[in-house]
Amino acid sequence: MLNNYIIRYHPHFIDMRYICCKGEGMQNYIVTVKNLNKMFNNFTALNDITFNVKPGDFFGLIGPNGAGKSTLLKILYHLVTPTSGSIHIQNLDLKYDYRKIKYNLGIVPQDDNLDEDLSVLENLTIYSMYFGIHRKKSAEKSNELLDFFNLNEKKYSKVSSLSGGLRRRVTIARSLINDPDLIILDEPTVGLDPEYRQNIWNKLQLLNKSGITILMSTHYMEEAEKLFKNMIILNHGRIVKNGKISDITLNKKTLEEIFLDIAKT
Ligand code: ADP
Repeated sequence: MLNNYIIRYHPHFIDMRYICCKGEGMQNYIVTVKNLNKMFNNFTALNDITFNVKPGDFFGLIGPNGAGKSTLLKILYHLVTPTSGSIHIQNLDLKYDYRKIKYNLGIVPQDDNLDEDLSVLENLTIYSMYFGIHRKKSAEKSNELLDFFNLNEKKYSKVSSLSGGLRRRVTIARSLINDPDLIILDEPTVGLDPEYRQNIWNKLQLLNKSGITILMSTHYMEEAEKLFKNMIILNHGRIVKNGKISDITLNKKTLEEIFLDIAKT
């Protein structure tokens, strides 16, 4: 449904949709993380993190506060430099090729960093300049996204006048301006009312059904159960569980119970 909706183009057209990393078992992966470590001075924030994400996955990163989720996502979108280890996104090495990777990547940071004094539409169009998207294309894409996120009424409103839920929708819309195949979201529903949270879940599920791979963190187990096809659970910077919900719970405990057990350790 959404494929008709979203026009795919990249300014320096690199169609990387089907170029993925070959990993164990000759499977294709859109993201591969190997033996990743991050130290802040003497403190180990991430300890030997290894996982793969398949194209089309809705992949979750779960963990209590301080587990290392944001640090890992910030490394993936090139805001924080890892101490060691490797990351490939669509067969490109993040260390050397971020400039290429970014054309096919959407980012929703926890701190939305929208421009408060500009309108919703201006926020989208200015962001599109970062990717060198032509003005006409940018206008078309912005209108599609405003429609999809039911933001038409707010098109000309200043971001500073919007509620938290609307701002979050603008940030997600903005992350799609370059028509990425992969979006990374850092706790996108944190602090939102249940109604807004549900609305964002619905939109993310539609995006995932349209073929976009989603990598997202949360500490809400209800959200994890509803959305994630595969996940890792982090605690104190280490992966303590990895797989589908049924692999993790072994159908004995709920994800919430497992999470609470982990958070106590
Ligand atoms: P989460 O997102 O799971 O809540 P974070 O990735 O934000 O966890 O933090 C993981 C750990 O790393 C925390 O103990 C945090 O205090 C520490 N940390 C994060 N960023 C920095 C930094 N810039 N300097 C020092 N310590 C940091």
